[in-house]
Amino acid sequence: MTDGASSRGPIVALAGGVGAARFLRGLVRAAAPEDVTAIVNTGDDREFYGVWVAPDLDIVTYTLAGAVDLDKGYGLAGDTTTLVDRLGELGHESWFRLGDRDFANCLHRTLAMRDGATLAETAETLRQSYRLDVRVLPMSNAPCPTRVELSGGRSVHFEEYMVRDGAPSDVESVDLSAARAAAPAPGVLEAIRSARTLVVCPSNPVVSIGPILAVPGVRDAIAASDAPVVGVSPIVGGAPVKGPAAQLLRGIGCEVSARGVARLYAPWIDGFVIDQRDAGQVDEIEALGVACRAVDTLMVNVEVAKRLAQAVLDLAEQTRDERGR
Ligand code: GDP
Repeated sequence: MTDGASSRGPIVALAGGVGAARFLRGLVRAAAPEDVTAIVNTGDDREFYGVWVAPDLDIVTYTLAGAVDLDKGYGLAGDTTTLVDRLGELGHESWFRLGDRDFANCLHRTLAMRDGATLAETAETLRQSYRLDVRVLPMSNAPCPTRVELSGGRSVHFEEYMVRDGAPSDVESVDLSAARAAAPAPGVLEAIRSARTLVVCPSNPVVSIGPILAVPGVRDAIAASDAPVVGVSPIVGGAPVKGPAAQLLRGIGCEVSARGVARLYAPWIDGFVIDQRDAGQVDEIEALGVACRAVDTLMVNVEVAKRLAQAVLDLAEQTRDERGR
């Protein structure tokens, strides 16, 4: 058991992919892994090559298992791409570079779902196969494709926007209507209701956290919870660490800064941990009614991630004490 583990749980973390997974690697070292439930975005999910791909669920699972390709942040370390390469030779679109062993996991998911399993049940079998203690829950069992609306009336699936088209800047809005129409997966609302601490991972606010909040019942469950809600800024020194957060934040009219994300989250969070490079924004964020701390959030290794997770849990305890929760 890890330091402070017994007093920390249950902890529920809203999670996207790479940023979330890096943070969760630290969280399971700052708290007992069995106390942690990750509620994961499924807005990026889509069928590729006949299999159902759930990028964020798999990034979280592979990272916590120590099996992820650390350079890319997704996929399995040492994986080959024989399958997609051959499909490309045969004239199929092959821009989504799914690795061979990754494909096997997605095929497992697809076959199980064809036999009647839910997405959550397949996430559970993958979690067990990697012997993880953390609970990994999709936000919904229903397909919830996030669509990005671009100039000229074009609308593309998030993976087409991100991977095929290279995340262009002409974003006009983001369509979360599928998530809005989907039921939460069994256990999602219950986990939020029974959490002692709610964490918002350093994930893309628009296309990772946005879809989770759009699922009916999630916002209400967070609002009704007594647990402190503490987020981590995915913006460091005025820019995302990686990924298309800048284009997407601008697309929804939000400033690309820690302060901009804090404004977006202020109605429903109690605390926000930002990077030390953005320490000059602490007072402005506190003026929004959000307790704010500035620490090193650039998770270049698991030690930084653990210290960041500790800072998040400490801020949660402080806001709990101040509010007499
Ligand atoms: P995706 O679905 O794979 O894009 O993953 P997420 O939504 O979880 O993460 C993307 C966000 O994580 C981006 O906006 C990044 O800026 C942020 N991020 C990635 N690594 C780090 C890090 O080390 N520190 C912080 N603060 N944010 C990070």
